[in-house]
Amino acid sequence: MDKASTQKIIDRLSSAQHPVLLTHIRPDGDAFGSLLGLGHTLRARGQHPSLFVEGGMIPMYQFLPGSELVHDHPTRLPEKTDCIVSLDTSTRERLGPKTLSWPQPIDIVIDHHISNPGYGVINLIDSQIPATAGVLFHLFQQAEWKITPDAATCLYTGLSTDTGSFRYRGTNAQTLHAAAALVELGADPSEVAKQCYLSITHERHALRKLVTDTISIKDRKMSAYLTILPEFYAKSGAKSEDSEGIIEDVSSIQGVEVGSLFEFMPDGGLRVSLRSKGKVDVNSIASSFGGGGHKAAAGIRFTKDAQKNQELVLAAISSALSSPAK
Ligand code: AMP
Ligand code: MN
Ligand code: MN
Repeated sequence: MDKASTQKIIDRLSSAQHPVLLTHIRPDGDAFGSLLGLGHTLRARGQHPSLFVEGGMIPMYQFLPGSELVHDHPTRLPEKTDCIVSLDTSTRERLGPKTLSWPQPIDIVIDHHISNPGYGVINLIDSQIPATAGVLFHLFQQAEWKITPDAATCLYTGLSTDTGSFRYRGTNAQTLHAAAALVELGADPSEVAKQCYLSITHERHALRKLVTDTISIKDRKMSAYLTILPEFYAKSGAKSEDSEGIIEDVSSIQGVEVGSLFEFMPDGGLRVSLRSKGKVDVNSIASSFGGGGHKAAAGIRFTKDAQKNQELVLAAISSALSSPAK
């Protein structure tokens, strides 16, 4: 991790009394884990952070200590705001539409997305670390800031969820050392696993059943994709966040190199998730359509021409599979 920019961020954060912490739209475990991990750590230092994310907390992550500290975006930022921090968010736009009308610059960007252009005044982006929570862990160590048991639980959750429970590429000895240190500091691995992986709601399960039934397999069984139609939500009673993780049902099939999920939105848009086992760089596919992410997990958001764009993305996957990047 870059020590000089880490130190700049430590200095900038130390001098802020009322920092605003933000994370990406459609937040995941790393988004909430990083938001609350930094929130708890600054609060333990006597600072007064405000934590915002589009839509506020979601039920699945309500088990995280301090979840009541997370709020939906306000129209205007609190008056005393003296530093804005973006966490785990690959582009400025992914902080959410409401944030775009805020006049203040983003002071600090802390992230691990390879596609992050560095839209902050100070940026700490380390794509070698598999979760933003891991970037924060190293930052706290360099700063010698105390990590409370609550902060440890949140950071551990970020590490666990972004590595698919320490299974994905990018999980290395350093990741496991960080996880072990967080357990020593108070995170409970089986409790986090129970909450994140063994607590699927019946609605989420019903959605998953509808979606997995749409499976199509192509490109010599190396590509498999799923489709979500708007009516699946009404049929299952699930919410939009319940689609998180369903893509694993195709990307985990033996021989499938690229798994993808196409969600047709009620407004005519299309949300695409891509996963690779390693032969194909899905970040470069996503980036060619204006999206981004990581080599092994990336996404795209189209605002129109859903059907046409689905075909274009599937064609790009086919072409990448016929000439793998390495
Ligand atoms: P998802 O498939 O939504 O879980 O996203 C996979 C990864 O790609 C995550 O790390 C996201 O932050 C990133 N990502 C998803 N959608 C986009 C997008 N439209 N632009 C940039 N990055 C994205
Ligand atoms: Mn995330
Ligand atoms: Mn992340």
